[in-house]
Amino acid sequence: MSRTGIGKVYFIGAGPGDPELITVKGKRLIEEADLILYTDSLVNPEVLRGAKSEARIEKSAGLTLEEIAGRMIDAAEQGQRVARVHTGDPSVFGAILEQAARLDAAGIPWEIVPGVSSVFAAAAVLGAELTVPEVTQTVILTRAAGRTSVPPGEELTALARHRSTLALFLSAGLMGDVRNALRQAGWEDNIAVAAVYKATWPDQVVVRSTLGRIVEDMRDAQIRSHALILAGPALDPGLRRPDGPKSRLYDPTFAHRYRRAVRAGDAPGGEEP
Ligand code: SAH
Repeated sequence: MSRTGIGKVYFIGAGPGDPELITVKGKRLIEEADLILYTDSLVNPEVLRGAKSEARIEKSAGLTLEEIAGRMIDAAEQGQRVARVHTGDPSVFGAILEQAARLDAAGIPWEIVPGVSSVFAAAAVLGAELTVPEVTQTVILTRAAGRTSVPPGEELTALARHRSTLALFLSAGLMGDVRNALRQAGWEDNIAVAAVYKATWPDQVVVRSTLGRIVEDMRDAQIRSHALILAGPALDPGLRRPDGPKSRLYDPTFAHRYRRAVRAGDAPGGEEP
């Protein structure tokens, strides 16, 4: 049974930067919050506009996990609403598990409000579809092993053998290693690789490149952090032409739940995404 008079903690995805890319729900919860703790390195403080004038707003980058959890627990125990604001979507490299574990232990209710992850902001900026029919139907969200290792079996070379689209977080400073890993997986130097620095921020920088040139192109653009890397054959700008790959979804001979095929006896119905 939930304790009465206790506040709730909302882990809110702030989106990639553009303050219009937060959800309506996330914005409302920020407006209603008594305590706002935000990861200041990549959350645009603009999303905190609209906070109540009496709300306590604190940056979390300089705090330890125990300090962050302690502040959230104290506030919730006083019946306050807490907005814990994370960059992009909280579920991707958000380090929310350990915060939620401490809230659970203290009996504090919490909920995640999703956000626009930088992987999707970067795809939007590039005008890219990450899942191109007959090129790849898979996106792998991962990061290169740097100071923090990755579990066995998740080395970039192993993941890259699928030749699916790779979205690399936290890897902008490790692009030499990334290139070596992808080459080791058999990727050719002309495969498309793009880096989007601070996607949707006013100082956004876009580098469209290839595996062969990405390290030098990012060095020239002075990008070492705060960038999302998208790599793989689906990113090839050359695919975007009228006779390029296309989904069967809008093919007149392909029936799905919402449309009958032009000719009877064609492909079985699919689901419209
Ligand atoms: N939860 C976040 C990721 C946090 S990890 C999300 O869903 O986007 C931090 C990494 O995310 C950065 O190193 C960078 O790779 C990426 N990132 C976050 N915001 C970004 C932005 N606006 N533009 C480009 N990359 C970003």
